Amino acid sequence: MKYRKVNERVLKQLAAIVEPNDILSDRERILDYASDESSIEPHYPEVVVRTNTTEEVSKILRLANQELIPVTPRGGGTGLCGGAVPIYGGILISFEKMNQILELDAENLMITVEPGVFVLDLHTYVEEHDLLYPPDPGQKLGTIGGNISTNAGGMRGVKYGVTRDFVQGLEVVLPTSEIIDLGGKTVKNSTGYSLIDLIIGAEGTLGVITKAILRLVPLSKLSSTLYVPYKNLQDASSTVSKIIQNKIIPPAIEFVDQSSILVAERYLKRSMPRNDAPAYVLIRIEDKDETQINADIEAVGEICLENNALDVLVADTRGKQEEIWEGRSCIIDAAKAEGLVEVVDCVVPRASIPALIKGLNDIAKKYGVECQNFGHAGDGNVHTNILKKTMNDDEWNNKIPHLLLDIYTLSVSLHGTISGEHGIGLTRKQYFPMARDEKQIELMKEIKRVFDPNNILNPGKIFDLD
Ligand SMILES: Cc1cc2nc3c(=O)[nH]c(=O)nc-3n(C[C@H](O)[C@H](O)[C@H](O)COP(=O)(O)OP(=O)(O)OC[C@H]3O[C@@H](n4cnc5c(N)ncnc54)[C@H](O)[C@@H]3O)c2cc1C
Repeated sequence: MKYRKVNERVLKQLAAIVEPNDILSDRERILDYASDESSIEPHYPEVVVRTNTTEEVSKILRLANQELIPVTPRGGGTGLCGGAVPIYGGILISFEKMNQILELDAENLMITVEPGVFVLDLHTYVEEHDLLYPPDPGQKLGTIGGNISTNAGGMRGVKYGVTRDFVQGLEVVLPTSEIIDLGGKTVKNSTGYSLIDLIIGAEGTLGVITKAILRLVPLSKLSSTLYVPYKNLQDASSTVSKIIQNKIIPPAIEFVDQSSILVAERYLKRSMPRNDAPAYVLIRIEDKDETQINADIEAVGEICLENNALDVLVADTRGKQEEIWEGRSCIIDAAKAEGLVEVVDCVVPRASIPALIKGLNDIAKKYGVECQNFGHAGDGNVHTNILKKTMNDDEWNNKIPHLLLDIYTLSVSLHGTISGEHGIGLTRKQYFPMARDEKQIELMKEIKRVFDPNNILNPGKIFDLD
């Protein structure tokens, strides 16, 4: 597709749609919109438009569709696969001003929000009302629009599921400018194809989300965290499936290796408990009832010890728990603070986690690279930070594609896939055919053509249209 440039005439038309100070084109001001948190190099949009209403979004898409100008929707820019990077320039729509919580419907346990609301603010708001929005991605400055578009996961996935499981309704502007309402507040819905499920996880390629109705659950106020060091990675990783086999489903079961704990310590400038162990499992237990929490702590602690844990440390105060979870949550930021990192997001069936972790370490040895393995092991999703460290650019650029190919081949061979929660975007696009067969990819392309006949919305992400 040959796209047109944003010229003076188009800028004038944009100025008739939004306030002039919501149009940014000066290079210094748009630098922040040129990249996300992935390793993709910056690509500048030609113009950034900060929208305030759904109607503005619709008018911009009508204009872009007529003029054949690519449009990239952007939330917090915290994505890890280049989804919000405007590779063809064009118009970037930023949702930073559409950040209002519109309605808390306590009767239906649902909340309606604009797409630019940070997940952090949503959590704080609903918890003040004794409610919980369970999806809990590590990066709290991602927006709800971005979380829905990547089908974000996070720490509570093992018990509650991922973002998709909490999206009830969406207002979406199509690339051809029509505004549609999908889903709604009914708990059930068997009314034709589930278009809402196409938009969730579409990485902003099928439509632009301008409003979301999300499902909430009651908040379990009591919680404890078990911090369990192990003398080897295999015992730690096999504990995860043992806990589930025993029919205990804690909200979070995370796996962390020693290199991840040490990088977190350097970043936070404080030590983590028992930092001498090669591997750790972190388990959050929540309930409304103290007796039940104590019973779960005991049962889970026993399983860990039977699986050769070196110790079982229980953090029960809010402060101690926050310290542990802060250590877990900062691992990606901590690694990035020390240099270039490629973040991998494999997911396998839970029981295959030990095989995945062993294979990941073998691959790291084969290529002589340093890796950190950690992640949401309770739902089979293991992240790997591949660190550039002292490698020069040529060495890094030569090694990375082969190394990623080996990692994804491993994940797929274990009946897993190449992204559990971050998406395909640009960084995984070349590996996408390993994870989806030809027919499925052709169907996806047909769907894209139906939604976006001129291929103006976030083109070049996930796959290229032929
Ligand atoms: C330190 C760190 C930790 C992280 N931890 C997790 C984690 O635990 N779990 C997890 O799932 N992810 C995690 N992430 C990744 C990231 O936070 C998520 O992918 C998040 O969902 C991105 O949200 P965002 O608002 O920043 O989206 P962006 O990066 O701005 O965009 C992501 C994609 O969504 C599209 N998009 C954004 N808004 C809209 C909209 N309104 N309509 C249509 N499309 C839109 C964009 O075009 C793009 O394709 C982490 C990232 C970092 C840096």
